Amino acid sequence: ERRVVVVGAGMAGVQTAVALREQGFTGTVTLIGAEPHQPYDRPPLSKAVLLGTAEGSAFDVDFEALGITLRLGCEALGVRPRAHVLDTSDGPVPYDLLVLATGAEPIRLPGAEGVPGVHLLRTLDDAERLRPVLARQHDIVVVGAGWIGAEFATAAREAGCAVTVVEAADRPLAGALPAEVAAPMTGWYADSGAVLRTHARVERVETGGPGEPGGPGEPGHVVVLDDGSRLPAGAVVVGIGARPATAWLAGSGIDLGAHGDVLADDRLRTSVPDVYAVGDCASFPSGRYGERLLVHHWDNALQGPRTVAANIIGAAVGEAPVAYDPVPYFWSEQFGRFVQYAGHHTAADTALWRGDPSGPAWTVCWLREDRLVALLAVGRPRDLAQGKRVIQAGTTMDPRLLADPARPLKAA
Ligand code: FAD
Repeated sequence: ERRVVVVGAGMAGVQTAVALREQGFTGTVTLIGAEPHQPYDRPPLSKAVLLGTAEGSAFDVDFEALGITLRLGCEALGVRPRAHVLDTSDGPVPYDLLVLATGAEPIRLPGAEGVPGVHLLRTLDDAERLRPVLARQHDIVVVGAGWIGAEFATAAREAGCAVTVVEAADRPLAGALPAEVAAPMTGWYADSGAVLRTHARVERVETGGPGEPGGPGEPGHVVVLDDGSRLPAGAVVVGIGARPATAWLAGSGIDLGAHGDVLADDRLRTSVPDVYAVGDCASFPSGRYGERLLVHHWDNALQGPRTVAANIIGAAVGEAPVAYDPVPYFWSEQFGRFVQYAGHHTAADTALWRGDPSGPAWTVCWLREDRLVALLAVGRPRDLAQGKRVIQAGTTMDPRLLADPARPLKAA
């Protein structure tokens, strides 16, 4: 009986275990996770769970019925690929096949590590610590105007908090989107009543300042910016990105990339035999886009595991391997808008707008040699669904027809 051990009980780990069973794997499946909680989904943490409109976001999976052994509160400490052993806080675990799915961890604000009242937002524990902060309507400083910063600011405004977002770049989502696309999003902050300060670098966070008189464990803070300005805050929330949770793999012989990403191949295998990697912790070579992608979004943690399971099962019976070559997809809910993105736009030569970016609904389409390679849709889910299919098909488009928001987004 073959033993599959999956490390990391987030979306990618859970989906791998489930996909193995759905695709008929009959060996043992052990799912190991460092967090003590029943495995849960992360997107609701910055939305319903934060606002208290949902209690939690545990996955609706009957692990026992599927024959998946859950080992929670168990941290993987290292891998010995030659011996086929995973070392954990509960001792060594032998495997025939190992799947790395340890996800990502948020980047901490230098100088503010461990300061009480300075929060991250990655785990259920983080969300539960933040819930009372919102309920008490503290003045909040959010560091970083990325996806998480925007979603947190949305929830905090909805809860009635005064919100200031400080961003080192000249615009929101500077790491993800070109300036002309991010420009209309700047106004969303002000419309919601949040203050967005760009070109603003945090120098330090002082505690015990004249902020909101906090409850126990929530002292007032002053966020000091590099231009000397001082922002009082009852709480500080840091959303400045995440990096793969792979430090524990040092010395294992498993190759890591510049971002700490496990370097997977197009079948999601790592550089050592019998070890796969999937989800936020791993990058893979995209045949479609001709470059290595490190995707930190939910859909990648759903699709990748199906490829891993197919390859684990297929390899044993001599089936042709399956390549992982998705059109990446994600969504974000911010300031009352539903934002969706599909594809990958860095190699595009043309950007076209459908609709008025100052209005409530518009889409940006990126083309390369008249082929749609990516699109961002705000409040236009039909554009997203149609555009994703066009990207997948790789057919050429007439750019002039594409720009008419009244026409369906289809290859001519
Ligand atoms: P993770 O979810 O990070 O799971 C990895 C698990 O492995 C964790 O539970 C961790 O504790 C565990 N682990 C780590 N190291 C070890 C170890 N050494 N031993 C044992 N266990 C370990 N994406 C979207 O597309 N749309 C959204 O709206 C969206 N909203 C989000 C909101 C929030 C607040 C967050 C944090 C993320 C959001 N995402 C969203 C991103 C999405 O949730 C992630 O891409 C997805 O969770 C990745 O799944 P994963 O299993 O690869 O990693």
